[in-house]
Amino acid sequence: MRVIVTGGAGFIGSAVIRHLIENTDTEVANLDKLTYAGNLESLASVAASPRYRFYQIDICDAQALDAAFSEFQPTAVMHLAAESHVDRSIDGPSDFIQTNIVGTYNLLEATRRYWNELPSDAKLNFRFHHISTDEVYGDLEGTTDLFTESTPYSPSSPYSASKASSDHLVRAWQRTYGLPVLLTNCSNNYGPFHFPEKLVPHVILNALAGKPLPIYGDGSQIRDWLYVEDHARALVEVVSKGIIGETYNIGGHNEKCNLEVVEGICELLDELVPLASNDERARTYKELITFVKDRPGHDRRYAIDASKIQEVLGWVPQETFETGLRKTVKWYLQNDQWWQRVLNGDYRLDRLGTDI
Ligand code: NAD
Repeated sequence: MRVIVTGGAGFIGSAVIRHLIENTDTEVANLDKLTYAGNLESLASVAASPRYRFYQIDICDAQALDAAFSEFQPTAVMHLAAESHVDRSIDGPSDFIQTNIVGTYNLLEATRRYWNELPSDAKLNFRFHHISTDEVYGDLEGTTDLFTESTPYSPSSPYSASKASSDHLVRAWQRTYGLPVLLTNCSNNYGPFHFPEKLVPHVILNALAGKPLPIYGDGSQIRDWLYVEDHARALVEVVSKGIIGETYNIGGHNEKCNLEVVEGICELLDELVPLASNDERARTYKELITFVKDRPGHDRRYAIDASKIQEVLGWVPQETFETGLRKTVKWYLQNDQWWQRVLNGDYRLDRLGTDI
């Protein structure tokens, strides 16, 4: 395969590219604008591969997209570029509308222009894989219901509404123009190279600094947690073997409320880097937990029925929440250079000290 990955400098996109370069023969073009969430240092282990190249492109820039398609000649597109942080979407929805909706429209059109010109066998084998979230389904009421691929959309935040819009556009481009698309909707990811504004890394790094560990409301909101490398493997299965026009839900069978997640991190840190018995800030990390005002419109529960991808493509997660969280905490303990450069802003400078 020759795959364009949009948003490849982000958390999940970089895991997908590392997986493609390290475990397959795929040629990869990473198309990324490098917003605050894009970090080329997450790709350091594969950047020198002759099968990897990078284009700094905004998916809203149609001309730049046409040039990249024409130069790289992809056989597939994996579309991950997005504004992804719910709190930011509440503070300022504009970038979410622009990138997630207008950007996806632009990418679909650039793909269609390119795809229309392909010879018939290449046209037949081409795939556009749109990567989306379980948040498009909204809130689950009870404790046992699960999101299936046919659950109606009911997004709650500007982020999830913009992702729902992009999902609809992708399906419309297949129905109307015949573009060969695949969609996946995944639950909350966690793992290495996660930007520190998100819950898991935020809690790890605050705890290491002896700062308060903020939890929205009473911490009872339930999410289904998936280790990012399991997600990356699932995405590569779908783009290479999935049935055109189908949607696959991806989840980790790991329903945890936010309080359990934070407490789990605290227990691992107590084991791996215990606080000194004379530390004035706290004796155990759990003492740093602080409950803060809840996020507006906060969904209570998400949970994925991932039986379709398991039955059709044979994908199952390799990590349980316990093994994945342990790997994640250890990764942050061993990779302080990566996150220190994110916290101090240096990850946005190239080697000459110029802003990228
Ligand atoms: P992220 O915020 O870590 O990365 C997004 C990447 O997209 C960044 O590298 C950024 O520079 C790039 N980008 C943003 N705007 C762009 C634009 N206009 N043009 C080109 N590049 C642009 O996000 P993530 O957590 O890696 O999520 C990737 C995708 O997976 C998103 O579409 C998200 O909705 C979806 N998703 C995420 C999760 C999760 O838990 N993180 C779960 C399910 C689905």
